[in-house]
Amino acid sequence: MLIDCPDCNARVDGEVVGSVEFVNDPDEVDEPRRRLSLLRCPVCGNPLVALDVLSTVSESGEFWLSAERIWPPCTMLSPSIPAKIRDSLEEADKCIRSGAFTAAVAMTGRALEAMCRHFGTKSDVLAGGLKELLDREIIDKRLFQWGDELRINRNLAAHATGERFHGWHAGSLFTFALAICNYVFVLNEQFAEFLEHKDDVNKLMKQLVESLRGRKAKRTVVRGNPKRLWTLGHPSRRTQFRYEGSVADGCMLLQVGNPKIEASFFQAALMTFSGREVRGGFKEDDPPRDSFGEWIKNNSRSINGRCLTPRHASFIAAILCHETGVTSRLDGASTGVRALLVAAGEQEDIRPFFA
Ligand SMILES: [Zn+2]
Repeated sequence: MLIDCPDCNARVDGEVVGSVEFVNDPDEVDEPRRRLSLLRCPVCGNPLVALDVLSTVSESGEFWLSAERIWPPCTMLSPSIPAKIRDSLEEADKCIRSGAFTAAVAMTGRALEAMCRHFGTKSDVLAGGLKELLDREIIDKRLFQWGDELRINRNLAAHATGERFHGWHAGSLFTFALAICNYVFVLNEQFAEFLEHKDDVNKLMKQLVESLRGRKAKRTVVRGNPKRLWTLGHPSRRTQFRYEGSVADGCMLLQVGNPKIEASFFQAALMTFSGREVRGGFKEDDPPRDSFGEWIKNNSRSINGRCLTPRHASFIAAILCHETGVTSRLDGASTGVRALLVAAGEQEDIRPFFA
């Protein structure tokens, strides 16, 4: 069973020591069968516990969705982010995973409040706190703008305004909050570390030259070998396409206009849909609400720097499924067969959920 081993920091084929199959609520007709397995990492020998869900049963056998590692627990947030802020972000993430989007927005706002408190801002309200962080140059103008947007939405979410938040909305705001925290705590710390060691110029320069050389060589190889993939969906409706690059380095679709998909846009998509099942929504004009296609359409200009359509979303989804822990399945329950993505935040964080 494929699973991410935190000690090896790699995806491994875990040896199944034992499994128990069960359903959460036996009275519920549509309740999926789940399987809890104790695994042993074939590399380091450490124990791992995985949970996976039965997706479909056909003549060719049972199809189980990729297993989620539930022990040791997955961590997504950097330990450099102070615990009180991390707690709120983790809570917001949990809300998004369980579809409580309004609560997620409120918790995301709470993370910002915790950040203001961490820096001891004097103002009692978030607006004043953020302004103070800007004045003290802890955040810059752009982060202030993101923070202020979060503040406005958090006010709508926390009070009985009747405002309803959708998944992409909560996910986007969460992505912005995480970006602010990563900028303020993680990157600053890394930069301070860099400054501390910069005297060792020769060593650093050598490492830098080596890493650049490695990257250049890798890119050249990728460029020379476009990858060929099929889009997701029903076999009768899939099309083949070609692309260069990777999720990690960013991609270029080899088609009219050669649209580029930045690595940061892939990351934002993975973070937004982490642990959730989302409808493909690849229809050009009118993607369904809360679908992957709608998210690509609404967020590509701001995050990717160029507008992409739901049609591009079908290629992006296929690339994510090919290169990361994201999986897809066909949903035959509706009249048309459509693709569903089971998104994974990071390769070691695969949490399939049913919509
Ligand atoms: Zn291992």
